Amino acid sequence: MSAPSTVLVTGGAGFIGSHACVELLDHGYEVIVVDNYSNSSSQVFARVERIAGRFVGAVYDLDIRDRHALSAVFDRHTVDAVLHFAGLKSVPASLRAPVAYYDVNVGGTTALLGAMHEHGVRQLVYSSSCSVYGEAGSGPLSEATPARPAHPYAASKWTCEQILADVCRRCPEYTVLCLRCFNPAGAHPSGLLGEDPQGTPDNLMPYLAQVAVGRHPRLKVFGGDYPTRDGTAVRDYLHVMDTVDAHRVALDHLADAPGMHVFNLGLGRGSSVLDMVAEYSRACGRPVPYEVTARRPGDVAELVADASAVDRAWGWRPTRDLADMCRDSWRFQQLNPLGYAGSARGQKP
Ligand code: NAD
Repeated sequence: MSAPSTVLVTGGAGFIGSHACVELLDHGYEVIVVDNYSNSSSQVFARVERIAGRFVGAVYDLDIRDRHALSAVFDRHTVDAVLHFAGLKSVPASLRAPVAYYDVNVGGTTALLGAMHEHGVRQLVYSSSCSVYGEAGSGPLSEATPARPAHPYAASKWTCEQILADVCRRCPEYTVLCLRCFNPAGAHPSGLLGEDPQGTPDNLMPYLAQVAVGRHPRLKVFGGDYPTRDGTAVRDYLHVMDTVDAHRVALDHLADAPGMHVFNLGLGRGSSVLDMVAEYSRACGRPVPYEVTARRPGDVAELVADASAVDRAWGWRPTRDLADMCRDSWRFQQLNPLGYAGSARGQKP
C-alpha cells in the first residue's frame, strides 16, 4: 500500500492537532479535520493556513461520538489514514467526571473505528499518552513496562489502546501506530500557533506562560515532597514540533507491517517543575513567580521515556530541547497574550 495522501485529523483544532495540520500541509497531504471545539477554537485554521500557505481541505464541527456525522465525512472524502487526537486530556477533570472521560475518549474512539470500518479505512495513528504508565515507577519507561493508569484519563487512554490492539489481532488488515506522547510543549516557531486551552490550564507550560504574561499572579507547583531531585514532579517534555513530526513520519510507516505497534515519544530526559520554571524565566527574561502547594490528586512523581524504540524502528529522534520549547511558547504567549480569542478582538499577532 502506498503512503496515505488524504488524512483525517480528529481534534485538528487542538494544541497538537493544529500543529499536525501545518506539518501535513507542509508535506503535501490533503487534510480533513473534525473537531467540536470543546477545548479549542475554529480561529486556529486561518493561522494554520497562513503558516502553511495552503488550505485545509475541509473542517467539520462535529462530536466524534456522533457516528452518523462522522460517517458522512467518510462518505464525502476518500480518507487514506486517520490521525486521532480528539479527546479530553485533563487529569483533575477526569477525577471529577470519569464517565465523561470514558464517554468521549473511549466512545469517541469506537465511533471512529466504526466509521473507518464501514468505509474501508484501515490505517490509524493514535495519539496515546505516557500517563498509561502511571505508577509504574521511576527511571526510563520502555514500551514493555506494564501499564498502571492512576486516574480515569489514563485509564481511558489505556482502554483505547487495548481496544485498538484487539481490533488489530482480530482484523489483520488493520495497522495502528500507537504513539505514547510524553509531555508535548512549546509552540510553532512563527508565534502564530500555540497552546490555548479553555479556562485555567492544567498542563504546566501553558500555565507558566499565562503567569509570565500576567494572566495569573503565580504558578501553583503541585507537590514539593515527591521523591525526586528537588521534590517537584518530573516529566519528559517534547517540543510540539517534534511531536507532530513523529506523527507525520508515522504515516510513512503505516505500510511497514499490519497490526498494532506502540512507540514512546519523548526526549528521554526528565525535567522537574522547578527546572521548567527556571528555563521559562530565562526565556521571558524575569523570574516567574510560583508557590509550592499540596500534591494534586492523580499526579505521579516521575514519567520519563525510554525513547530508543522509535529511533531503532524509524531512525526518528527529537531535535529540540527544553530551551527551544520555552522560547517558542513565550513567543506565542507574548504575541497572543489572551490566546486566539484576543487576536479576534483586534490584537494582531
Ligand atoms: P487539546 O485539548 O488541545 O486537543 C484535543 C482536541 O479534541 C480539541 O480541539 C477538542 O476540542 C477536541 N475534542 C475533544 N472532544 C471532542 C469530541 N467529542 N469530538 C470532537 N472533538 C473533540 O489536546 P492536545 O494536547 O492537542 O491533545 C491531543 C491528544 O493527544 C489527546 O488525545 C491527548 O490524550 C493526547 N496527549 C496529549 C498530551 C498533552 O500533554 N498535551 C500528552 C499525551 C497525549
